[in-house]
Amino acid sequence: MAQFLKCPDHVLVSNIVYSHVYAYILPELRPFLINLETNHLPKFVENNGEEMIQKMLDKSNNKLRMYGSAKEIAGNIKIFRNFTESFRFFDDQKYPFNASPVIYTSLNGEKYIYKPDIFTIIQNIALHTINHQKFIFFHSMLAKILKSKIVLANGPVEFVKFDEKMFDEIEKEMREVDAKSHQQAIAQRDYLAMSLSTNNYPAIASKFRELNPTLWEDAVANSYLKHLQLLSNRRIETQKEPIFIALTNTCKMNCIEEIMAKRAPLFTSTPESSPITFIRTPILRSKHRAVPIRAHFPGQFVIPAVDCFFEFWRNAILGVKLFQKYQCSDWEKYAQFFQEIEEYFDIEKKQQYFLQYDILESVVGNSLQQYEVSQIKDIRNAKKDGFTVQNLKNELKYLGLTGTFPDIQNYAEGVYEEIDKVKKERYLRTCDLFDAVESCQLICLLNRIPNYQKFLHNQKGCKRVFGYKCAHCEKEEEVKNTSDIQDSMKNLKIESSNESGSNQYSQPALSAQKDCEKCSESSEILVKTQNELKISRDQLKEMQQKMTDTEKELSDLKKEHEKIVESEAKKTEELAEVMEELNNEKEKNQEKEEEILKASKENEELQKTILKLTAENEANESTIQKLLDRISNLSSNNQKTNRIDEKTIEESTQTTSVTSKNAPLVIDCLICSSQIKAGQEVIRCPLCKRRFHSNCAFKWRKDHTQCPACNGDLPGI
Ligand SMILES: [Zn+2]
Ligand SMILES: [Zn+2]
Ligand SMILES: [Zn+2]
Ligand SMILES: [Zn+2]
Ligand SMILES: [Zn+2]
Repeated sequence: MAQFLKCPDHVLVSNIVYSHVYAYILPELRPFLINLETNHLPKFVENNGEEMIQKMLDKSNNKLRMYGSAKEIAGNIKIFRNFTESFRFFDDQKYPFNASPVIYTSLNGEKYIYKPDIFTIIQNIALHTINHQKFIFFHSMLAKILKSKIVLANGPVEFVKFDEKMFDEIEKEMREVDAKSHQQAIAQRDYLAMSLSTNNYPAIASKFRELNPTLWEDAVANSYLKHLQLLSNRRIETQKEPIFIALTNTCKMNCIEEIMAKRAPLFTSTPESSPITFIRTPILRSKHRAVPIRAHFPGQFVIPAVDCFFEFWRNAILGVKLFQKYQCSDWEKYAQFFQEIEEYFDIEKKQQYFLQYDILESVVGNSLQQYEVSQIKDIRNAKKDGFTVQNLKNELKYLGLTGTFPDIQNYAEGVYEEIDKVKKERYLRTCDLFDAVESCQLICLLNRIPNYQKFLHNQKGCKRVFGYKCAHCEKEEEVKNTSDIQDSMKNLKIESSNESGSNQYSQPALSAQKDCEKCSESSEILVKTQNELKISRDQLKEMQQKMTDTEKELSDLKKEHEKIVESEAKKTEELAEVMEELNNEKEKNQEKEEEILKASKENEELQKTILKLTAENEANESTIQKLLDRISNLSSNNQKTNRIDEKTIEESTQTTSVTSKNAPLVIDCLICSSQIKAGQEVIRCPLCKRRFHSNCAFKWRKDHTQCPACNGDLPGI
C-alpha cells in the first residue's frame, strides 16, 4: 500500500513544468519566464524537470538569479507543487497527478484521507498494476478519466477514513484489468479491422466514442478522425497497430471506471452526512514559497498569513525594487500603499492564521505599479569565491539603498553572519547576495513599522529574517530569566540527559516530524534558560553525579519497557501521545521502579512540563481554521531549503533528547515511507543523520548522489 502513496517517477509532464515555475517565482519576474513547450508534444521529464528549468534560466535574461541553480529550483518546486488538489491550483486538467497523497491524522489519532487524494491513489495503483506503453498516451487517458470525475465532485473539503483494506481490494481488481480489457478488445477488433480495410474512418472514431464517451468526447473523436485520414496513405498494417493500442487502452479505462463505480460514494461529494472532525494539516515551505493548503471551497487555497507577508515583501523588495525607487524623503508617498496592505496583517491575532494565497498579488498590481521608474540597478553577481561583508555594504550603496535607509549598512554584518552559516555551497553565491540584500531591507522596514514587528512575532516569523533581532522575543527572554531555582533544576536535568546520550531512536527523525513553529518556540525558551543557568550547575554537580548513576539502572529498566511499548505503540507522530502512553506503561511497572523513583521523579516533572507545553500548543492550534500543523516526512526536504526549519531542528533536538531517552518514537524511512522497525538494518546519512532502511538506501544510492532528506552529497557505497 505504501508504494501507492507516492506518485511514480513517470508522471511529471514537460508542459506542466512551466506552470510550476511560473507560480513559484515572484509575480514581477514572471514576464521573464519563457514557455518552451508550447510547440512540443508533451513528454515525461526526469530529475523534476531540471533540464527544462535550466533552459528557462538560460532564456530569462539573468532575471532569475535569486533562485540559485536549476537543480535547486527543481528541488524547491518539488516541495512546492506537492499538495492536495494541486492540479486545480496549476490548472492542470490533462496530465497525470504528480502530487503524492497525504494521510492526515485527526486529533484522536485516526487516519483520514482527503477525497480527491483517493483519485491519485487509484492512478498510482493503475500505473503500478496495469501494463502500459511508456509514452504518455495511457497516462493522459487515465488522468482525463479521473480528473473529469473529481471536477464533478465539486463540494467543500471532505475527508474519509483511510481504509487500507479497501485499497488492497482495489489493487486486486486492478490486477485483473489486463485480462479483462483484452477480452473486451478482442470483441471489437474485427469490426475495427473491417472498417479500416474499407477506409471507413468515421466508423472507427464513432466506435471509440461509443466505447467511452468521456474519453472520446466530440473534440477528441473529431481530431482523431482527422489524424486517421492523414495516415490513410500508409499501409493498412501500420495503421492497424496504433488503432488496436487505442482500443486496448480504452477498454482498460472502462475496466478502471467499473472498479470505481462499485464504490461510487467514495468518489462523489456527500457533505451533509459528514460530521466535523479536526484534521491536522501539514504546513510546508520550500525556500521561497509556502505550499498552498486547500481551503473550504474548491479551487480555493490558503497559506499562513506570515508567508503572505514574506512573499509580498520579497516581491516589493526584489521584484518591484520599491526601496531602490523611492528615497526616505518620499516616505509619505508609500502611505496609501502601506494602508492598503495593513488590514491583512493583523497584529491582534496571537494565533497563526491563514490568508488566500494570492490575496496580495492584486495589491502588488494596483499599488506598486505606480512606482515604476526606469533605470533601476540590478543586484550584481557574487564573485566565484563569494562575497564579504564589505562587498555587501558596497552593494547596498550601489543599489541606492543607503539613500532610502541611512542605517542599512549597520545590519550587513548580522545578516552576513547568518547567511554565511546556512550557505549551501562552499562559497556564498549570487542567490545568497539576493537574500542578504532582501534581509537588510526587511530589517530597515521592520525597524520603522512597529506593527510589523509585532505581527511577525505573533505569527512566529521573527526568526525567518536573517540577522533580525526581535524585540518581543528579547522581552520574553527577560521574563524567563527571573524564574526561580526550580527551573534551574529542571534545566540541569536537560543537560544531564543530553550527556547520557545515545539512544536507539535517532533524534533528527523526531525533530523532522515535530518542528512545528510553536513547539520549537517553547523548546527554544527551555534551551535558552538552560544556557543562562549554567552557573548554578557547579553547585549541583555532585547531585548530578548521583543521578547519572541511578540513571544507568533506570535506563536498563527502560530498555525492557521499550520493548513492551514498542510492540504496542501505534504509528503516531504526536509527541504528546507517545508520552502519555509511556506514562501508562510506567504506572504498570511502578513496583520495579520504586528504588529509582527518586531519581526519575525530576525527569517526570520535566516531561510533564514539556507535555503541558505540547498540549498547550496543540490546544491553541486546534482552533486555527481547523488546519493544524503536522510535520510530515516531506518536511524533512525542507530542512535544507528553509532557514526557519533548520533553526527549528537545532532547537527542538535539544528538548527531544530529553524525551527520546524514554519514548519509543516511530520513525519512517523517507525512501519507502514505511516504518523503521527495531532490528531492521539501517543506514544513516552522515550529514543530517536521518535513518533509512539499508535496502532502501542502497537502491536509492544507485541512481541518486544526494540524501533524500537533506540533499547533501552522499559518500559512495
Ligand atoms: Zn507509466
Ligand atoms: Zn519574536
Ligand atoms: Zn525503507
Ligand atoms: Zn544528509
Ligand atoms: Zn540526510
